[in-house]
Amino acid sequence: MIVVRTIADVRRAVREARARGATVGLVPTMGAFHAGHLSLMRAARMQTGFVIVSLFVNPAQFNDPTDLAAYPRDEARDAAMAAAEGVDVLFAPTADAIYPAGFATAVMVALLNEPLCGAFRGPEHFQGVATVVTKLFNIVTPDVAFFGQKDAQQAVIVRRLVRDLDLPVRVEVCPTVRESDGLAMSSRNVRLGTQERVRALALQYGLQVATAAIENGARDGTRIAELARTAMHDRGVEAEYVELVSAEHLRPMTPLAGEILVAVAAHVGSVRLIDNVVIRVPPT
Ligand code: AMP
Repeated sequence: MIVVRTIADVRRAVREARARGATVGLVPTMGAFHAGHLSLMRAARMQTGFVIVSLFVNPAQFNDPTDLAAYPRDEARDAAMAAAEGVDVLFAPTADAIYPAGFATAVMVALLNEPLCGAFRGPEHFQGVATVVTKLFNIVTPDVAFFGQKDAQQAVIVRRLVRDLDLPVRVEVCPTVRESDGLAMSSRNVRLGTQERVRALALQYGLQVATAAIENGARDGTRIAELARTAMHDRGVEAEYVELVSAEHLRPMTPLAGEILVAVAAHVGSVRLIDNVVIRVPPT
């Protein structure tokens, strides 16, 4: 595996791989790798001939400067883990390479950036995501790009962006990888203290309560969200939001039907966590 920092170098590597007839896979990340990231690298390895992992802690998508400063960073460890997965190129650009002086352009996926995390982190969050993903797609020109279902709203926004702008890339969304007790893996989990790590299971519990309610015939999204919120409160966590929305448009619907995204966010101590599950709700 080679580590490259400039746009010119990553483009050269892609050109050479294509000249050999390889298809190109891209896994965009912010580093601090865990098994969730590795599952995306493995999927890329299986489906494409040349795998590029980008490692860029994107300042444009952090609404909270303390969160950006506290974001875990360990490039040497990440590089070793990516190499062990058979990744070909780790693209770790500087902020200046991505946002040179005078940078003035943004990509905004309207409406989808407003609900769920957009309501709490501000629409600039997903604007930052959409802009950097567009840039990475233009820099790397992957045939396939791999994202995690863990960040469900991000995945929906990236799919829409690709469709709306006719970007020639296939988007693969891979399942959420969890710890053995069900906690969704996240780079932020390392910042949880021992007690917080236990309380963090409340998110998963809230999703289970919502799922069980739907399985028992409930179809009122607001009511089900309230049940999940209360279940989380009883486990010592106040939900930032619990929402049941259509998985494609991220809009609330009553009664619930079709593919429903149940999404939850909460602060556990100073750490903001998210989780979700998609449920196919049969018509009653
Ligand atoms: P991040 O480094 O947090 O920006 O994540 C990079 C990619 O890994 C994104 O597409 C995430 O959705 C994905 N990802 C993060 N956590 C998980 C997880 N637990 N399971 C699957 N994919 C994940």
